[in-house]
Amino acid sequence: TLTTRFAPSPTGYLHVGGARTALYSWLYAKKNGGDFVLRIEDTDLERSTQESVDAIMDGMNWLNLDWNRGPFFQTHCFDRYKEVIQQLLDTGHAYRCYCTAEEVDVMREELKAAGEKPRYNGLWRDRTDYPEDKPYVIRFRNPLEGSVIIKDIVKGDIEISNSELDDLIIARSDGSPTYNLTVVVDDWDMKITHVVRGDDHVNNTPRQINILNALGAPLPEYAHIPMILGDDGKRLSKRHGAVGVMQYRDDGYLPEALLNYLVRLGWSHGDQEIFSREEMIELFDLTGCNRAPSAFNTDKLIWVNQHYMKSLDPEYVAEHLTWHMNEQGINTDNGPALSEIVKVQADRVKTLKEMAQISRYFYEEYSEFDEKAAKKHLRGVAKDPLVLVQSKLAGLTDWTAEAIHNAINATAEELEVGMGKVGMPLRVAATGAGNSPSLDETLALLQQDQVVVRIDKAIA
Ligand code: GLU
Repeated sequence: TLTTRFAPSPTGYLHVGGARTALYSWLYAKKNGGDFVLRIEDTDLERSTQESVDAIMDGMNWLNLDWNRGPFFQTHCFDRYKEVIQQLLDTGHAYRCYCTAEEVDVMREELKAAGEKPRYNGLWRDRTDYPEDKPYVIRFRNPLEGSVIIKDIVKGDIEISNSELDDLIIARSDGSPTYNLTVVVDDWDMKITHVVRGDDHVNNTPRQINILNALGAPLPEYAHIPMILGDDGKRLSKRHGAVGVMQYRDDGYLPEALLNYLVRLGWSHGDQEIFSREEMIELFDLTGCNRAPSAFNTDKLIWVNQHYMKSLDPEYVAEHLTWHMNEQGINTDNGPALSEIVKVQADRVKTLKEMAQISRYFYEEYSEFDEKAAKKHLRGVAKDPLVLVQSKLAGLTDWTAEAIHNAINATAEELEVGMGKVGMPLRVAATGAGNSPSLDETLALLQQDQVVVRIDKAIA
């Protein structure tokens, strides 16, 4: 079975780079009817936290990237890593090295001074005169000759000469396995067929291939995805603002929007911008990934978000809006259905957070008028239109947008003024604000007596 994996280290939240890697791995598995494994690489005990594990899974769940195998935790596999390390020792592919870190530093300095690449020089590669009671690390016996070719699906062939690679530590002096060893063992044991990961790992790949070869394990295929840059051309990081996936939820983006944005950030299919989940699965291919890094563009993300707020089922968008309403302390038990709010507000805002912010008056009495709007449309302005429209609205027997519209029209006609002279003060009276969706729709979503009372407040 074609099998991909996402293998985050739980040392922080799920950031957009990780989410995109997860998405590409997930898509590739889905597309090919394969398995998608979630593997938590938590062997760095000092930096790994349960909080980060939760945050990563929250992010995956929010984006609806489901794994069908795992989550596996590397800390549960230490026995297996020990076994493989022993296997490498037994077959002569690994050896004990008694150099201290300081000795290796000196070695590196000396090589550097001689104009060579600083590295561990293989001092213990062929020694057997092991001192007693001294700590040692275990190093992989990297081949000296030849080269490793990574057949990268995204980047093409990459050739690295073995002379560039030194003998990597695979077990520390306390016996704990190092990163490259654990990845290799897990990719092998989990029968991973395609390793999709950020290209910050491309330097590890030749080492991992050599270890896999030493174990007689089959090689997976590799796809290294170029990194994501901020708008300043530097690698995307906290400095650029929101980078954690859940921050995008908090900021008011729909998961569909972020996912669609991320799939296009580094992959394209002609000039198509909008992809449903099903289309992504159908059309995605690793061969369509860009070789060059991509720059994160918030304006484009906003554009995609607006698309989805407008085009997804309002009932569905309303579920997400509910979260933001709660977050902003707006009780929506009484008032219009949130899907109605989505219908009238979706093309007026950039995010759901903003939608919640400007929809408070549908559910709560506003406490004060927007200063500018009140100054322009209420203060020092004749109140006759408000008085008359209030009586007409109070007398309506069916509270519909159409009836409301007619009442406003009739008021303007009777007073021989433009619609704005009635509509604007009425809008400020009903909503407290100078902006709202179309006035008749807005009033129809409010309750009749509520509107009448609010006009009182404006006339007073
Ligand atoms: N745990 C590594 C990371 O979070 C990923 C390893 C891999 O994908 O091979 O960067």
